[in-house]
Amino acid sequence: MTAKLIDGKKLAEKVRQRLKIVVKSLKKKPKLVVVLVGDNPASQIYVKNKQKYALEVGIESDVIRLDKTVEEKKLLKIIKKLNKDKKVNGILVQLPLLSHINEFDVINAISPQKDVDGFSVYNKGLLSIGKDALVPCTPLGIMEMFKEYKINLKGKLAVVVGRSNIVGKPMAQLLLNNDATVIQCHSKTKNLSDITSKADILISAVGKKNLITEKYVKDGAIVIDVAMIRDEKNKKWLGDVNFEKVSKKASFITPVPGGVGPMTIAMLLQNTITAYKEQNKK
Ligand code: NAP
Repeated sequence: MTAKLIDGKKLAEKVRQRLKIVVKSLKKKPKLVVVLVGDNPASQIYVKNKQKYALEVGIESDVIRLDKTVEEKKLLKIIKKLNKDKKVNGILVQLPLLSHINEFDVINAISPQKDVDGFSVYNKGLLSIGKDALVPCTPLGIMEMFKEYKINLKGKLAVVVGRSNIVGKPMAQLLLNNDATVIQCHSKTKNLSDITSKADILISAVGKKNLITEKYVKDGAIVIDVAMIRDEKNKKWLGDVNFEKVSKKASFITPVPGGVGPMTIAMLLQNTITAYKEQNKK
């Protein structure tokens, strides 16, 4: 079998076009504020892209840049002010934060209604009981891919490799909420390939190149590669999955780059519009 490519770049463009039309129909422009602490080069690129695409769809976007020495107290004060600001619909604090700042306290200081990353305990709680929530953007983008490519999840065996709070766990929860049977694997899982090779849907969110070879994949499986690993030597991005070999066995596969990555930002914009609509509900 040769897998069909799930083109995240193309789908993200389509989503942005759809969102542009939605924004035009709103009374005001939704507003997203990104808080960036320090000068981490990767974070700077992510923030720049978030702002670029927000503006493209008509979402107003501000970036608050804070020095790496900023005290947690000051950051919390800024978030409180943004929570109260009626013009601000979405707040995102770019992660990772520096070690002197408590990430949990900062994320949970954001009003749940403006938590467009969906990382707060409140939104995670809603997701876990199957209620409407602001859902983390990367797994939400993968759900959008399933919808677009008409991949039915009901009763399918889905295996998620990785259990981080921002990708693995919400991914497993979304699959479960959509009637898949879910197994979650992690670094202590024994005989990983015995488990993954049974999956109808295999999602890998680890960050180890070549972790998923053809031995890990069932014939005809749907394979989603979340990882983004920078190969500085060859100046390219790699995933967990050995694309060349696995694409000969799978029925659908995402590339890296151009797969899950572009969908993440598109879903951030969608979450900002969702937050705006909820805040402006009569
Ligand atoms: P993370 O917090 O480092 O989590 C990695 C997970 O992989 C952990 O649960 C870890 O298990 C598990 N793991 C490590 N080695 C393993 C192994 N040999 N076998 C099975 N599981 C193993 O990473 P993350 O934030 O979830 O991100 C994962 C990857 O996705 C990274 O490459 C990241 O850059 C990428 N990412 C991409 C996007 C995007 O938009 N495309 C967004 C977010 C993240 P333990 O829990 O036992 O340690």
